[in-house]
Order: sequence, then structure tokens, then C-alpha cells
Amino acid sequence: MSRRRQIYEGKAKILYEGPEPGTIIQYFKDDATAFNNQKKGTISGKGVLNNRISEHIFTRLGHIGVPHHFIRRLNMREQLVRQVEIVPIEVVVRNVAAGSLTKRLGVEEGTPLPRTLIEYCYKDDALGDPLIAEEHIACFGWASQDEMNEIADMAIRVNDFMSGLFSGINIRLIDFKLEFGRIWDGDYSRLLLADEISPDGCRLWDMESDEKLDKDRFRRDLGGEVEAYQEVARRLGLLPEGAANEVLDLEEHRKNRGK
Ligand code: C5P
Repeated sequence: MSRRRQIYEGKAKILYEGPEPGTIIQYFKDDATAFNNQKKGTISGKGVLNNRISEHIFTRLGHIGVPHHFIRRLNMREQLVRQVEIVPIEVVVRNVAAGSLTKRLGVEEGTPLPRTLIEYCYKDDALGDPLIAEEHIACFGWASQDEMNEIADMAIRVNDFMSGLFSGINIRLIDFKLEFGRIWDGDYSRLLLADEISPDGCRLWDMESDEKLDKDRFRRDLGGEVEAYQEVARRLGLLPEGAANEVLDLEEHRKNRGK
């Protein structure tokens, strides 16, 4: 039996060659990192939840015409996606001040922003994903002006949709990160929304209590990470009611049963 080929291992995911050319399998790990890899840990069951949450959000975004890389979920931890050439830019969309913005500009966490703010970071772990201006993107040719216009338009559409989706389940979308990729057809390329959308890359606060339901629980040692992710999945209707405390991971279940 042949072993499938691993293409890349990231902080929270492993990418394998897909079954057909132009496809990739994204495997969601339980590993968590923060502060540019300085803090490492495991959130047991996170990968399963992020796989489901990301599937749900990408599918819903597809319904409103946002082009994306997601094809289908394969199992508890894997999804089939289109292979793209990743644009080396992290697109951060902010509605409320939090995280690095509060530190950089001294704005108090929780301050609503008068308008949606889009920031760009250069994707480079060794450099700590530094904040960049659109001028840097143009200067170094990381994306064309047309692509940047399209990226900003898509980011705003995704933000509008996701803000509504989450406010419907009593969650405030504070900020999030998106990544985009290109697929080529001869000399022409098209942009697709790529990577994942999950509580790993979003700040999500309960609307009544302001409780954090995202990776800040891990970053700030608040505890209850998996319960927070489960709560997001449960409110999105992705976990059967009453199963809130179970992460439905057959792989783990089999391992534990074998013990
Ligand atoms: O840390 P910062 O405040 O800049 O993060 C803004 C948003 O982007 C947060 O929701 C965070 O989870 C996400 N992000 C991410 N990956 C990074 C940087 C930020 O998912 N490398």
C-alpha cells in the first residue's frame, strides 16, 4: 500500500496531495500556537471542530457567490480543497479594536471601530508576519493592483456575511484573518478564498457576556478552549443538541477504546 505524499506541515494543518491533480487534502491538527510560535500547545478536539466550522462557513460563503477553494469534507479531520498558489499576504479585517491593534495604537480593547479596518501582513514566519502597507505589496509585486481591489472587495463581503451569521447566534465578530490563493488558466489567474475560517483565526465574543469564544482563550491562558470552540459549533447548529460536551472524533474514540 502506498503512503500519500505530504506537501506541507503548518502550525495547525498538514497538507497532502489530493486524489486528483489540482486538489489537496487539508488535515486539521489539534496543535495550537500563538505569539509567532513562542507558545505551543494542544487543544484536544480542536481540529475536528475547525474542520466542521470552516466547512460550514466556506459553504455558506459559496452560496452568496464568494469564490473559494473548498470542495468537500472527507472525514472528521480532513477536507478536499483546490490547490492554489497562496498570495503571501494575511488579510486582517477588524470591526472592534482587539489584539495587536490595541497594542500598536493604544486603543482600548472592545472599542468599536468607526469603520471596518482592513490590514495586511506579509506571510513570513521567520519575520513574525509583519504588518505592511499596500505600497509594500505593490513594490514587491506580491499581488497586482487588480488583485488587491478584488481582495478588499471580497474581504468586505465576507465580513458583512460573517457579521450577520454570527450576530444571528449572539456572537460579535470582532476581527478575523483571511488568506487568498490563485488558480491559473494559461496566462490568466483567478483569486479564491483559501485556508480556513475558524475560531483559530477569528475573534468571537458572546454578545451578552463578552466572553471570548476563540483562540484568545489559549493565547491568554483563560482555559476552556475546546468548550468555547464547541459552543461556536453548537450555536452554528453543527453539533447535536445535548452533545455539547462531546467532540465527535471517531479516531480519538477508537484510540481511547483501545486503551
Ligand atoms: O493578533 P491580531 O490582533 O493582529 O489578530 C487579528 C485577527 O487575525 C485575530 O482574529 C487573529 O486570530 C487573526 N490572525 C490569524 N493569524 C495570524 C495573525 C492574526 O489568524 N497569523
